[in-house]
Amino acid sequence: MAEPTIFSKIISKEIPAEILYQDDLVTAFPDISPRAPTHVLIVPNHQIATTNDVTASDEAALGRMFTVAAKLAKQFNIDENGYRLIVNCNKHGGQEVYHIHMHLVGGAPLGPMLS
Ligand code: 5GP
Repeated sequence: MAEPTIFSKIISKEIPAEILYQDDLVTAFPDISPRAPTHVLIVPNHQIATTNDVTASDEAALGRMFTVAAKLAKQFNIDENGYRLIVNCNKHGGQEVYHIHMHLVGGAPLGPMLS
């Protein structure tokens, strides 16, 4: 079994974080180093290292990440102006934490995606 990631420790409350949402499949909490006025991480409770490791059995959790993103976007009042959902994979994608997570980023114009 893989070593627990920092996100697994947040999910299990071993490490403190402001839990914005949690259910049986996913957990959401603010990014520790926000790069926009709203910057939330939405993470499957089950540890999956990268998008390369996704299997059909992960589909419920991955789908839930989108419904939670929509719910939090409304909660943070960024749904009308819009926001960006980002999932990084491996070195070229800029992935730092090897536990899949979706960044929900918004609250200001974000500029071109690949700048
Ligand atoms: P990645 O580059 O892997 O897509 O993004 C990892 C994100 O996790 C980064 O934006 C980083 O700021 C955030 N992060 C890293 N460690 C922690 C932590 O201990 N707590 C929280 N809340 N966010 C973290």
